[in-house]
Amino acid sequence: MAQASEYIEFRRAFVWLLCGMLLPSVALVAFGVVAVANERVAVERRLAEDYESRLRSLEREIRGRLDHAADAVARGTTDPLVSAVTVLAPEAPPAGLEEAAKSAETLPIGSHLLASNDAQGVHRAWALVRAVGAVGERTLLAHLDTQALAAQVPLLGEARFPREHADFRLLPPREGGLAALKRIVAEAGNNTSTVVGRVAMGPPLEGFALVAELPGDDPAAALAFRNRSLYVGLLVLLYLGIGVGFGLTIREMRRAYKLSRLKTDFVANISHELRTPLTSVRLFAETLRDGRATTPEEVRECVELLSSESERLSKLVEKLLSWSRLESGQRMLRKETMQVPALLEEIAVAYRAQQLDATYDTVVEPGLPAVDVDREAMAQVVLNLLHNAVKYTGEVKRILLRARRAEKSVAIEVQDNGPGVRFKDRKRIFERFYRGDDLLSRQTEGTGLGLAICKKIVEAHGGRIEVDSKLGEGSTFRIVLPVVE
Ligand code: ADP
Repeated sequence: MAQASEYIEFRRAFVWLLCGMLLPSVALVAFGVVAVANERVAVERRLAEDYESRLRSLEREIRGRLDHAADAVARGTTDPLVSAVTVLAPEAPPAGLEEAAKSAETLPIGSHLLASNDAQGVHRAWALVRAVGAVGERTLLAHLDTQALAAQVPLLGEARFPREHADFRLLPPREGGLAALKRIVAEAGNNTSTVVGRVAMGPPLEGFALVAELPGDDPAAALAFRNRSLYVGLLVLLYLGIGVGFGLTIREMRRAYKLSRLKTDFVANISHELRTPLTSVRLFAETLRDGRATTPEEVRECVELLSSESERLSKLVEKLLSWSRLESGQRMLRKETMQVPALLEEIAVAYRAQQLDATYDTVVEPGLPAVDVDREAMAQVVLNLLHNAVKYTGEVKRILLRARRAEKSVAIEVQDNGPGVRFKDRKRIFERFYRGDDLLSRQTEGTGLGLAICKKIVEAHGGRIEVDSKLGEGSTFRIVLPVVE
């Protein structure tokens, strides 16, 4: 039941995780897609807005340039923008300039007004300047050269915006048929720029447009592409992050779920392990109390069994305490420099004292360097491996304890001729509470804590523990310890 409810908890947490992460990220992606789709339009609009203020200021400058040309006419000097100056006959002004001629007459001497007219489809710009001549006041009609002005605009732009990438041009009004065709053909060869901003010019340049051009066929596309790539890159990064976070969370949740299952197994296991010797103790004690053991041999057998069962109990409790001390960090290692043969000798004494029904051989490579170990903790580790070797081998036990040099470390190995450890279990047997799922492990008493304790102790010494195993042939558990420099 407990397992089923934990599973439901796990699923619920998983669903929450899915909702909590996936829904906002789907919304984010939708937003990103819309933003990417609108990006080009947005870039074009931004470019046009950026250039409008610059174009307006350039337009004012052009206007100032025309005023400057008119002032030159008033002073009687020349200006490159003025192609011809005539005296305006007030009674017969050129077609389209009648109103302007009337207004000019009211102007004070030296001032001017700018005007334009269309003559046979050609746009002309004029400055009407009030001046004093030999025969009195008159209005001078100065023809403004728009082509010369157009030629000056890029230079004006460069001077005003020296660090600007764009070129500024003054485009004439749409020409009719042949002239337009000629210009298009002339520009077709070197047309590698695109208009990104445009403002219409005021009088006397009606119909003209001041434009900003950026090099390239489609600069907005390049900018939009860069921004899109950035969006897409960030989205990919975001998703990678979410994916990794998701994966890690799921892994942690699975671990927690597995651990809680292992703990449940452990409690069941440990209860069983405790109950068996306790039942035996109770039975043997009752046998003695009720006087059912009649002969001295029977009494001695009962007492011996009582002692061995209580020893089994205390070992089990000792293992549990050892684990909890390690887990809580209460167990401090008291390291000392030791020669390996001396350590193995101490282990041999402790092993013999336990009077197990199996022996082991020892092979020690001569001249091994010393190691820094907590002798009690390290003896506990090796004894644990020896016990496992005894526990998990059949009738004929061949157990070997070997110490040898392994590069810059010392390796202490316990080799047995047991059934071996299955490949899928080789890492997991060092996890707390984990027990092999094979028949032998199930039939053998244990808690799944022994190797986890070994691993913790060995790692606290700066070493590592590993297993080599061949199924059906045996296992070699290896402790690798750093040597004293
Ligand atoms: P326990 O022996 O109490 O189950 P351990 O942590 O010592 O706990 O061992 C974990 C598991 O590793 C065992 O359940 C067993 O399946 C496997 N194992 C340990 N030592 C050996 C060995 N020498 N040969 C085969 N399997 C072993």
